[in-house]
Amino acid sequence: MADDHLNKITKGRCLCGQVQFEMQGELRGIVNCHCSKCRKFHGNYGAYTSVKVEKVKMTQEKGLKWFRSPTDETPNVHRGFCSECGSSLFWHPRDQPFIAVAAGSLVEPTTLKTIGHVWCSQKADFYEIKDDLPQFDERWIA
Ligand SMILES: [Zn+2]
Ligand SMILES: [Zn+2]
Repeated sequence: MADDHLNKITKGRCLCGQVQFEMQGELRGIVNCHCSKCRKFHGNYGAYTSVKVEKVKMTQEKGLKWFRSPTDETPNVHRGFCSECGSSLFWHPRDQPFIAVAAGSLVEPTTLKTIGHVWCSQKADFYEIKDDLPQFDERWIA
């Protein structure tokens, strides 16, 4: 069936299971964000897929908390995490149709590939980007 991928369900969860969710349909390839805010939030660069907000269904949100991130370059960004285990999970500019979902939360096999790097201008000094994928100083420019 040609439309099979539209019905595909990918699950995600935090480390302890107090946040669990499902996403319907095709997910974007993984983009690594090297900005200083993601590096604080994730402990290193952030790896994200992205999906339309309405395609995300929370199946357990007992632990879910949102931190409004005033220093993010994108306006009105809220970062979602589990208040029980501390897993970093979501990057969501409210008023925008897409939500970025931390790749580490996805239940494998994801069938996704990493497709590039953003905010390389804010990369930490203790690692190099050694693959041949596209790199952007700031946002992804299509
Ligand atoms: Zn948790
Ligand atoms: Zn970032």
